[in-house]
Amino acid sequence: MAKKRVLITGGSGFLGSHLCDKYIHEGYHVICMDNLLTGSEDNVSHLFGNENFEFHKHDVTNYVYVKGDLDMVLHFASPASPIDYLEMPIQTLKVGSLGTHKVLGLAKEKNARFVLASTSEVYGDPNVHPQDEDYWGNVNPIGSRGVYDEAKRFAEAMTMAYHRFHGIDTRIVRIFNTYGSRMRLYDGRALPTFMRQALNGEPLTVYGDGSQTRSFTYVDDLVEGIYRLSMSDEIEPVNIGNPDETTIREFAEEIIEVTGSSSKIVYEELPDDDPQVRQPDISKAKRVLDWEPKVERRDGLIKTLDYFKEQVLRANA
Ligand code: UDP
Repeated sequence: MAKKRVLITGGSGFLGSHLCDKYIHEGYHVICMDNLLTGSEDNVSHLFGNENFEFHKHDVTNYVYVKGDLDMVLHFASPASPIDYLEMPIQTLKVGSLGTHKVLGLAKEKNARFVLASTSEVYGDPNVHPQDEDYWGNVNPIGSRGVYDEAKRFAEAMTMAYHRFHGIDTRIVRIFNTYGSRMRLYDGRALPTFMRQALNGEPLTVYGDGSQTRSFTYVDDLVEGIYRLSMSDEIEPVNIGNPDETTIREFAEEIIEVTGSSSKIVYEELPDDDPQVRQPDISKAKRVLDWEPKVERRDGLIKTLDYFKEQVLRANA
């Protein structure tokens, strides 16, 4: 029997590339599409030569053409770190809006299931804690993060419209902070920045007083949650994340400890609209997907350390 075929947009990014591995492992033929704006071929180079893998360099804000049948489309293309949105605000808005529209059109044409990568950023700087899927959020549309938050909110609206109006089979995953191998050393997010600084013996730059909280998920847990959602019947959004919440100051201290570094912490200005708290309520994922994260943060950080050591060596070479 022919293999099922999945298109993964943003397939050579951090999450996209781990999804390529997962769906190949689950017996799919994977078509990875990426314009390499923030993704890297290095993340999927181990799959080149695999007969179940194809790479297409393409910007999904333009018309998307894929030859042959598709069973599923995972739409993961987007800049995804606050520094990226600051540097690429228009591309961020375009891929979440025009890109989502194009890829939904392709899913309709191919009669394929569509899975949208949404985000905890749809909740903005939340007034409800922890955040469950029924919370509508508190987003500043004109702030520097608004380009990402509003694009993803639009993408959710467009996805539901295609589901309701065109009968497309859709899924929406709201992804919380995730970490693991293949993050860019300079993507500006807390974890790669702290790892890089700690391994280089430089001060860790904590923004504000570090009392803001996040809840970090190890990439393997996230990928399993997304896979289960893609196989489920759940149309409405599902949070996937690890509810283990920490302050950013404690997180920086933990990275200093795990890396065995003698770095100190320095405090810098808090970026605009930086959410003060973030923690997923994952009751729904537990109920409908029988999913919950398995990897404790300390174990996940240790698993990720070798990757960052190698990246730091390369960068310093
Ligand atoms: N942060 C920090 N120092 C850094 C990078 C980030 O203190 O060098 C903080 C940032 O202000 C935020 C948290 O760490 O409160 C998580 O930031 P990240 O960019 O990883 O993702 P976000 O959850 O804000 O999208």
